[in-house]
Amino acid sequence: MKQWPDWALVLRAAASVALLAAAGALLGSFRDLAWAGAAIVLAITLVLQWLRSAQLLRWLRTRSIADAPDANGLRGELVAQIVRLLRSRQRRKRQLMRLLRTVRRATAALPEGVVMLSEQAEIAWFNRAAARLLRLSRKSDRGLRIDNLLRQPEFVDYLRGRRYDAPVRVRMGMVPEQFLNLQLVHFGEGQLLLLVSDATHENQVEAMRKDFVANASHELRSPLTVIAGYLETLAADDGIEPALQGPMREMRRQAERMQGIIADLLSLSRLETGDPEVAGEPVDVGLLLKQVERDILSRQQRPRLVHSTAESNQWLRGDHDQLYSLVRNLMENAANYTPADGEVRARWWVDAAGGHLAVTDTGIGIAADHIPRLTERFYRVDVGRSRATGGSGLGLAIVKHVLQKHGGRLEIASVEGRGSSFTCHFPAERLLRRPASRAAAAL
Ligand code: ADP
Repeated sequence: MKQWPDWALVLRAAASVALLAAAGALLGSFRDLAWAGAAIVLAITLVLQWLRSAQLLRWLRTRSIADAPDANGLRGELVAQIVRLLRSRQRRKRQLMRLLRTVRRATAALPEGVVMLSEQAEIAWFNRAAARLLRLSRKSDRGLRIDNLLRQPEFVDYLRGRRYDAPVRVRMGMVPEQFLNLQLVHFGEGQLLLLVSDATHENQVEAMRKDFVANASHELRSPLTVIAGYLETLAADDGIEPALQGPMREMRRQAERMQGIIADLLSLSRLETGDPEVAGEPVDVGLLLKQVERDILSRQQRPRLVHSTAESNQWLRGDHDQLYSLVRNLMENAANYTPADGEVRARWWVDAAGGHLAVTDTGIGIAADHIPRLTERFYRVDVGRSRATGGSGLGLAIVKHVLQKHGGRLEIASVEGRGSSFTCHFPAERLLRRPASRAAAAL
């Protein structure tokens, strides 16, 4: 780019002004009015320049390449530059439009629904699959808030909760039954992308699995009760041959283990059905801890110290039997995986974040890579040891489900060879003051 002032240009301009002035002066000199002639010619030139500039401005406003004004000299160059700029802009616009059309075609062809939401969760755009799955209408639903169209409480809570690491499943239609997985993803500046997929088949398979496990456990329970009953009667028979007494004891032990597994499977089936969260009644967590503590202390084989403390007298709103099973599973595990010279402590306390129940032991501990999988059904770190302690591998799966039903979560910390700590966190909304009648009785 040339630096200002462009002297050649300045000289050209000065020369043409001087030339015009001289021509005017020459014409004027015929009547002895050389100055007036020069002034008139310069004034006419000025008016013409102004008119041409106005014409250029009018053209620029229309931005139509086809109507470019004819010009030469400096103006001609100016018009040519502007036309070049407009052409390259048009080319870029066409390229962008082509790209946009390709992206739109690609997202329209996606089997998953995609909905673009504004910062206020208003629908900005959606693809064909989203329109089909969510029954959206292209014309009327744009600009509407997504929670005005998807009113399922699970989705509304999910949207407001702002924790979108996992999808939420909602029921869309009753007849035929339809389920959708909805996943929100942050993008841009505060915008959201809603990904929608059909989960009807997945849901049916899960329901079939749950039904199968519940039915099979139910069917196995009665014959097993009969077998266990006969084994007990036979074991009490003094006339039984000494050589058979050992196998008989083992048969009884195994029958009891199977009864334990079936009872746990039935508990899990019950936990998986019904409302996602229990309303429940007031439960005294401190008392639950003491009850389980007593049971463990009455065992022959147990750690040296088993102790529970309730640091708060607040109660928890929940299902008594489910919470009992949670405490029992955690404290029994701690006792089972802690040697005789070890310690097991359970603690209930309350703070601004909610209620907390921790069961800590000085037992064998768990290697870090096992921790994320502990709450899976039948997952055991050491199958032999779990069987020897009468474990079913279902205890922590039950704990996880009970916590889900109470809006809580489980935190596991452990060091191999040093011990473990299982902490249940309950939301503050579930905390209750100790009922007045119980408070008086406790005095
Ligand atoms: P189990 O009936 O086998 O105890 P759980 O589901 O209760 O089944 O526990 C799963 C596995 O987690 C156990 O098999 C055990 O390996 C490990 N585990 C649970 N609690 C503890 C603990 N307090 N200390 C060490 N390992 C534990």
